[in-house]
Amino acid sequence: MKCPQCSCENYEILKSKGKHSKELLLKCEECGNIYREVITREKPIEIRIVISEFESSKKDFIKLYPDEELQVDDILEIEGKEVVITSVETKRGSRIYRSLVSDIETIWASSLDIPARVGISVDFGGRVLSKKVDVDRDFEFNIGDVIKLGNLLLKINSLKTIERKLRRGFARASVTKRVYGKPLESGVRYNYDLSSKIVQSPEKEE
Ligand SMILES: [Zn+2]
Repeated sequence: MKCPQCSCENYEILKSKGKHSKELLLKCEECGNIYREVITREKPIEIRIVISEFESSKKDFIKLYPDEELQVDDILEIEGKEVVITSVETKRGSRIYRSLVSDIETIWASSLDIPARVGISVDFGGRVLSKKVDVDRDFEFNIGDVIKLGNLLLKINSLKTIERKLRRGFARASVTKRVYGKPLESGVRYNYDLSSKIVQSPEKEE
């Protein structure tokens, strides 16, 4: 779709209504012109989707209506499994927040069907023991919490999330990369036991 005034193809969708044919109210990102477009619902098309699961990713295709609008954080179902959109790449090669399916080259998503994998590092005064745990994506790590991990007790003193390092507060497991803790003596009351969540493939000590 092109702006009738300046022919720019970048637009913001202000309104969209209708099912089989859609009336769109669009605002040109170049000149600010507001214009209407009516699109009739076409057959679903196959769009490339890259789904990340932990460190690996897999490519697949998903059938979607070309006039459907997708945005980051939308949830799609593919082969009965839910994935969340993390980025949308258009045919022009830019990664944007929101787009019509007809303009999409690749959807980047991450699987919701799997737990969040989080590293836990315990500092024994220079010697660091590291483990990985698989926990619910909604699980919250609070700084100051005491975790039981096998026969080890540790107190969280900082968290590394996708974006930053935290020394206070909490973070959801889905955005937490690593939990840093100090060992405690046995017998201390703990907030939660993650022993059964330890990923069995051993991680090398760092
Ligand atoms: Zn324009």
